[in-house]
Amino acid sequence: MEQTDILSLSLAELESCMKEMGQPKFRAKQIFSWLHQKQVTSFAEMTSLSLQLREKLQEKFCINRLNIARRLASSIDDTVKYLYELPDGNFVETVLMEYHHGKSLCISTQVGCRMGCQFCASTIAGFVRNLTPAEMLLQIYETQRDAGCRIDSLVLMGIGEPMDNFENVVTFFRLLSHPDGFGMSLRHVTVSTCGLVPRIRELADLHLGVTLSVSLHSPENRRRSEIMPVNRKYPVEELLEACRYYFSETGRRVTMEYAVIEGVNCTRQDAKALADRLAGMQCHVNLIPVNPIAERSFRTLRRSVERFQQELESLGVHATIRRTLGSDIQAACGQLRRDAGKSLENAQENESRNKP
Ligand code: SAH
Repeated sequence: MEQTDILSLSLAELESCMKEMGQPKFRAKQIFSWLHQKQVTSFAEMTSLSLQLREKLQEKFCINRLNIARRLASSIDDTVKYLYELPDGNFVETVLMEYHHGKSLCISTQVGCRMGCQFCASTIAGFVRNLTPAEMLLQIYETQRDAGCRIDSLVLMGIGEPMDNFENVVTFFRLLSHPDGFGMSLRHVTVSTCGLVPRIRELADLHLGVTLSVSLHSPENRRRSEIMPVNRKYPVEELLEACRYYFSETGRRVTMEYAVIEGVNCTRQDAKALADRLAGMQCHVNLIPVNPIAERSFRTLRRSVERFQQELESLGVHATIRRTLGSDIQAACGQLRRDAGKSLENAQENESRNKP
């Protein structure tokens, strides 16, 4: 019999499981708290339950773990980048960052990505599968265990497109914020999207309180479609309309992510077009020096980012430059996983070559 991954179950689902097992309803809350507050890794540790129940749970359910395949600690600041191995042998990346207001974690939502953004390392080898709610939670729990700290805020900006795994991401949000569970306020959570318009609207309608970050990268449809294929389906006008809707429904200001790329999106005309597009909107622009990836020749000059920021500010657009953390370990997001895949492929090739 296949075991159910118990970390992905909501409290209501656990309650119906308990009912099926002839247990009182409050057992579900006890188990939920062992899993999400005390974050135990085995049923044996749930000492408030009878031995018999623990054994029954062990038969029916499993508590998965992630294996730390690599851990890169920055020598410049306190940033730590993890390459986690999932139970099925796939890899994802998670980054722990230190801000003045506490510890922030950047988590992945998919193995690979199907969005095809030109500058992004996560999408080059395509899409493998969605992460389960449990696999998103485990990136937090395993990192806390390893680093011995409490995570204060979360960004969904690792590998994958969160809005392309909408159902699991929403289930994850509900588990994460449940008062009998981990109990993180969703005001401390930011979800980043390349612009899946219908999902942005759906998220607004759920009124969860998460902050929305949109990867804009160009105000101009022709250019944006070249670097981000998603724009062919959901052009800039529709995307910004969905952002206005998000603000009107939730009262949360939207952040526009803008990776500054030399020769692509940082001329004076780009600044002007961006300012025109964003006029009257409750948003702010976050400029990111593009992270070079091996497969492409995209790059940024520091002075272009600064000039672009000044131009935007002079046009009345609030723009900040993203602080670069862990620059010594910041292989572009997705690069570590790709490297792991390659070295694994090589190892397998060598193994089969060495076979008699
Ligand atoms: N798929 C989501 C979230 C993951 S990417 C999204 O597109 O928003 C997180 C952020 O990193 C996005 O803003 C993305 O555009 C940006 N990004 C990806 N590759 C980058 C690179 N090489 N340099 C700078 N930013 C990059």
